[in-house]
Amino acid sequence: MSKTVSIIGSGFSALSASCYLAQAGFKVSVYEKNATVGGRARQLTKEGFTFDMGPSWYWMPDIFEKFFNDFGKKTSDFYELDKLSPAYKIFFSDDVITIGDQMNKICEEFDRIEPGSSKPLRKFIAKAQEHYNIAINKVVLKPGLSPFELVTKETVTRLDQFYKTISSQVRKNFKNPKLISTLEFPVLFLGAKPSKTPSFYSFMNFADFGLGTWHPKGGMYQIVIAMKSLAESLGVSIHTNSNVEKISVNNKKAQHIIVNGETIESDVVLSGADYHHSETLLDTKYRQYSEAYWESRTFAPSSLLFYVGFNKKLKNIEHHNLFFDTDFENHAEDIYDNPKWPKDPLFYVNFPSVTDKSMAPDDCETGFFLIPIAPGLEDTPELRAQYFDIIIKRFEKRTQQKIQDNILFKDSYCVNDFVEDYNSYKGNAYGMANTLMQTAFLRPKLKSKKVEGLYFTGQLTVPGPGVPPALISGKLVAELIKKNEH
Ligand SMILES: Cc1cc2nc3c(=O)[nH]c(=O)nc-3n(C[C@H](O)[C@H](O)[C@H](O)COP(=O)(O)OP(=O)(O)OC[C@H]3O[C@@H](n4cnc5c(N)ncnc54)[C@H](O)[C@@H]3O)c2cc1C
Repeated sequence: MSKTVSIIGSGFSALSASCYLAQAGFKVSVYEKNATVGGRARQLTKEGFTFDMGPSWYWMPDIFEKFFNDFGKKTSDFYELDKLSPAYKIFFSDDVITIGDQMNKICEEFDRIEPGSSKPLRKFIAKAQEHYNIAINKVVLKPGLSPFELVTKETVTRLDQFYKTISSQVRKNFKNPKLISTLEFPVLFLGAKPSKTPSFYSFMNFADFGLGTWHPKGGMYQIVIAMKSLAESLGVSIHTNSNVEKISVNNKKAQHIIVNGETIESDVVLSGADYHHSETLLDTKYRQYSEAYWESRTFAPSSLLFYVGFNKKLKNIEHHNLFFDTDFENHAEDIYDNPKWPKDPLFYVNFPSVTDKSMAPDDCETGFFLIPIAPGLEDTPELRAQYFDIIIKRFEKRTQQKIQDNILFKDSYCVNDFVEDYNSYKGNAYGMANTLMQTAFLRPKLKSKKVEGLYFTGQLTVPGPGVPPALISGKLVAELIKKNEH
């Protein structure tokens, strides 16, 4: 008889693990507390507008492709991908940088800002590509069990890349503050300041400039639909509106979970919910990490988000727009060093309807505004309103247009919603950051050290935050379960 695996949550990592485990012959059931699957990648549809509520940048298309290839499929069997051209635009206080879809175009833009800078840029990206190949093919595919996993013939010759920071590397090669911000932007996806992120993570720069920015037609939720359909075709049973209330342990072995009051016996329990929350489902003596441990970790930011429907097409914008027209250091300090609401926040705006007509009604624009903030901040309607006012005015100024009278509706989302909807620790948006001390074997473990048959996956364990790492995390934990539990 096949062994049973109960999976808690239905984020990308849980869905990924469910597919690999079902393929290996386990009887897999997924229990998701919310009404829809996909975790933080839910979709909001309203008055003909479609919003991805969480991730919006489709980077590292090779990792998505590899995931579907593992099941004899291709991404194009499920959704249509567009390479965005330009990839994105960055608004500074005195200029706008446009990042093209090819290295040549990006080099031209760098030379416009700082003559001659395309030369060090090409070198920097060539090194970033080497890091990408090592990271994706060697390092990231390890389960984080021991420090020796990081030791490969490629990494031993680059040990300096683990203790030097991305910030110092960028500053060594570039002097212009706008180019520095442009090159530091990709590692923000890893959740920490560039000055705390190892230089090895420059592979994110290759993901950005080398591999490009893509968009699944219909939005990021198409990936969720694809993975759900793949999982179901492999025999996974998916239960929504199914809140897991407890993980019960007998004789140091995970025995069953309690879902909406009902006991579900399982040979193996895998949680893809926030790691911190997952451990609160256990009696205290079975938890591996104390509250003090979580408190001492660097978490990725939370976010204040606005989903806005506009009744006209907007000008001077692209699909992805970054507003780096205020001081990044001050904002980063308010996120990481001295958590408080930022005075002059940087922000990001996504208008998927610029390139994808299906995302908004005719002659309208779908706008997603995001301000990164420290996790755990006070979250009130007044603060949300105050910050919308700040960014919408800055947006109007930088893009030279009036838009406030064209808002049909706006919904907001912030710390309290992340906690309520996803049981997120302090309302973090994208997990635990990848700093030097929180990389690989130094992250919370995929397998419980205290309870047999209990595993974890997702953005708080290995490899870290982001959709591609979540796909990999699901694969890594499935491999461990196959090895230990078959
Ligand atoms: C605003 C935002 C923007 C982002 N932008 C990007 C981006 O552009 N590109 C990118 O690659 N990544 C981005 N990310 C990060 C990316 O979305 C996440 O890293 C990834 O989706 C996390 O997946 P996960 O599998 O770890 O879990 P999650 O998505 O957190 O899923 C966990 C699931 O567990 C469920 N759950 C929790 N508790 C229980 C319980 N007790 N019982 C049952 N179910 C439970 C939750 O409801 C949730 O569905 C962004 C994230 C956010 C929030």
